[in-house]
Amino acid sequence: MYKKVILAIVLLFIVFIVVGCGSAEKDDNKENGADKVATEIDFRTKETEHFNFYYTETDESSIDDISSYLEKKYNKIINDLKPGDLPKIKVFIYPDLGVFHKAIEKPNAPDWLVSVISHRNEILKIVSPNNPGPVHDYNVVLQSAVYSISGMFTAKTAGISYKEIPPWLTTSIALYEADMTRNIKQFDFMKNDDYPHFLEMTYNNNGDSKKLLNQIGYTIIEYVVDTWGISAVRDLIDNKGDVQKVLSVSSDDFQQGWYEYVKEKYNLTHDLDFETKETEHFNFYYTNVDDSSIGEISSTLEDNFDRIVNDLKPKSLPKFSVRIYPDLETYHKATGRPNAPDWSVGGFSGNREINMVSPNNPGPTHTYEEMLVVAVHEFAHGVTRHVAKDSYKHVPKWLKEAVALYEANQIRDSNNLEFMRKGNYPRFLQIVDNKDDYKVIYSIGYTIIEYVVDKWDIASVRELIKNKGDVQKVLGVSPNDFQQGWYNFVKEKYLEE
Ligand SMILES: [Zn+2]
Repeated sequence: MYKKVILAIVLLFIVFIVVGCGSAEKDDNKENGADKVATEIDFRTKETEHFNFYYTETDESSIDDISSYLEKKYNKIINDLKPGDLPKIKVFIYPDLGVFHKAIEKPNAPDWLVSVISHRNEILKIVSPNNPGPVHDYNVVLQSAVYSISGMFTAKTAGISYKEIPPWLTTSIALYEADMTRNIKQFDFMKNDDYPHFLEMTYNNNGDSKKLLNQIGYTIIEYVVDTWGISAVRDLIDNKGDVQKVLSVSSDDFQQGWYEYVKEKYNLTHDLDFETKETEHFNFYYTNVDDSSIGEISSTLEDNFDRIVNDLKPKSLPKFSVRIYPDLETYHKATGRPNAPDWSVGGFSGNREINMVSPNNPGPTHTYEEMLVVAVHEFAHGVTRHVAKDSYKHVPKWLKEAVALYEANQIRDSNNLEFMRKGNYPRFLQIVDNKDDYKVIYSIGYTIIEYVVDKWDIASVRELIKNKGDVQKVLGVSPNDFQQGWYNFVKEKYLEE
């Protein structure tokens, strides 16, 4: 698999951090908001084991995905925190930000606020993940919902009020349960041993300390779990964050220990000795592991440059940097994802940064030749980013991957399409970033763009990128007809004997 999902997500979190206060809030003062709005909006309902959902047409196609995601996370939080019996949570999903902000009685709330929860009534209100406004995307809305639920469970675990638990603990647990990890670059400020003393932060601190907690919180719980186990997190909640009592370390030793842990785990001190090579369109940074392969890596990218740029026609393109790490572990640590799976071997981030593992040392799931293809795939993501410009993060994942697979010529053996023979083909327009869903795009992505080019043209691919994958608007067909048409195309081309 050539994927590189996580860095893209991390990028979204950077936006999340920049806004400082996160995307979720607690709301216990306006208990009647949901009911009042419930009478004005034509809600549909869906009941699952732990939730009652109230949603509109906007989320009809994704309510199953939303509910199964929240059920999965609910079970993990229950397992981690073991709160007592809980009533069902009501989840109101509003069709857009304006309606949502009105429903929580904050009509002037900032765009980043997409989730609030009432601890007292167990009511969660979120904006539609399909229509999240300009700051967030589908996944961040779902993670914000988990963040909110986790905060409520933390309070219920201890049977005390939320405010009796110190902010570093509630925030950190919520970030941890919502998988809100951070990019390694977020930790640059700690490189000079100048680490934050987070235990002392209070709810009255200014936005800076909230922002700081949002950056480091995930790693605090990660440190506790790795060192003392998840039960220590529960004990900390029960004891209002008293690390001396629960973990038998002083406050200073706890913070120092966390800092040493982060430094080691996220590779803050490891400076690799990179050599450089410049070609017409790329700057390469590589270690001596790639002395023998840098020539082939660079010529592969240069050889594919004109074709991809000509297909996608970005208005302008910066010179890309390509950083090639000597092995998988170093690559994962350097990109802030020390626990990333072996198949994660390359990624595009920022405006122009391609990171990848050495083709000479690609780990168990890739070959030397495949790593050259990965480089082209990531470059195609980079060009797509400059076609979409500011709306890149709103380009749906199926389209981003399909374009990269197509431009890297990653056509799959038709055996990989066998699973579709029965006619039960994937509704890829709804693919979101949960792992099972996501994987199928790597089997079919090439054929999606192949279909668009065959039935329409390559210009339509560019228009799809610029229009956030809106097939109705760009191609004049409904989402259902588009997927059916694609399936018929694949069946005829690849599945018929
Ligand atoms: Zn990709």
